[in-house]
Amino acid sequence: MRCPFCSKLESKVVDSRPSEDGRSIRRRRECCACRRRFTTYESVENMPMMVRKRDGSFQAFDPKKILTGLLHACEKRPITLAVLENMVTDIRQVLQNRLDGEITTAQIGDMILERLKKLDEVAYIRFASVYRHFDDVDSFLEELNQLLAEQGKPRIVTAARTIESAPDREFGGGSDITHLGEEEFS
Ligand SMILES: [Zn+2]
Repeated sequence: MRCPFCSKLESKVVDSRPSEDGRSIRRRRECCACRRRFTTYESVENMPMMVRKRDGSFQAFDPKKILTGLLHACEKRPITLAVLENMVTDIRQVLQNRLDGEITTAQIGDMILERLKKLDEVAYIRFASVYRHFDDVDSFLEELNQLLAEQGKPRIVTAARTIESAPDREFGGGSDITHLGEEEFS
């Protein structure tokens, strides 16, 4: 490791310890020529993860895209950015530990839904409405009712026409179920 002060290559490690998050090793080095000290970090090189999209093409896994999707879904919900960032980190770690290598956008979407379901009902529905590309309002309501049933709440709507006459409050305000556009969460 080249000394940043005198550019000589010889140095010795005088201290070595893991960083706070355990993801890297911090080494304190002393230059053998000028005796000045500097610090280096050693970390595991993350292999880029390739994600297969619906159309069969591949692209590199991008945690920022997931975070953006989550931020859309959780807009005006009582969820902190830190919670969402942790969720993205968690998903990335699960994916990195997989042995079979191939990941699809559908699998990532399912992982996000699974986590959102436990976190926030409205965010879950918003995300699901985009991600699963509901063919019609009935299948959307089916999903909504299934969620409510799991939580022991009565079914609030059962048919497409009901949603039009349903008061806004049942959905926490009409703007809560907006279509967020076509996005690939990969
Ligand atoms: Zn030096």
